[in-house]
Amino acid sequence: MYGNLLNTYGDNGNLLTLNYYAKQMGIEIHSEIVSIYQEFDPDKYDFVFIGGGQDYEQVIVSKDIQDKKEALTQYIENDGVILSICGGYQLLGHYYIGANGEKIEGIGALDHYTLSQDNNRFIGDIEIYNEEFNETYYGFENHNGRTFLGKGERPLGTLVKGNGNNGEDQGEGVIYKNTYGSYFHGPILARNKSLAVRLLHTALQNKYGKEIELPQLP
Ligand code: GLN
Repeated sequence: MYGNLLNTYGDNGNLLTLNYYAKQMGIEIHSEIVSIYQEFDPDKYDFVFIGGGQDYEQVIVSKDIQDKKEALTQYIENDGVILSICGGYQLLGHYYIGANGEKIEGIGALDHYTLSQDNNRFIGDIEIYNEEFNETYYGFENHNGRTFLGKGERPLGTLVKGNGNNGEDQGEGVIYKNTYGSYFHGPILARNKSLAVRLLHTALQNKYGKEIELPQLP
């Protein structure tokens, strides 16, 4: 979604990665970009990816995404799978206060909100641990925003190294139903195969409405 606007640090590489793993497991993926002025049909897709962006692009997307609010919320509430990065992650929440202090509206499909910070960005390598899955994820973060999670949301992981959501509560990213958010650029799936497989697996089980066993990846 908005792949022609939100693609900081090649976030769209996550789709290439997903495709790469899928091919090795005999799964065929078709993808397309749904961007500004285009309709999002929540029944059409098994997986949605939203990348990060600079504040400028975020303002453009912020206006357009309001028209997709209902459809996206329906997709999320119906257990649709989403991976959202940085700016995309922020816009699924209530709002993001940009670096200039302007309020950039999200859609509030998830209950988090994002504040700015003065003359600082969280930049650098980051490592988090997800206890539920017993998995460690590695990435690179670069954001002004400080995100605070809300109702029904749990972090994607606990900080081992880096700043994470807000530099205060040790959390990084979000999981709500099958919607994932993270500040990891890099792209996250290229460095974290287990997360890529988890997303594919969930999307396929949703699509076919049954338990599916995936072949082991080399
Ligand atoms: N513009 C947002 C911020 O600085 C998002 C940045 C990003 O997507 N890398 O927090």
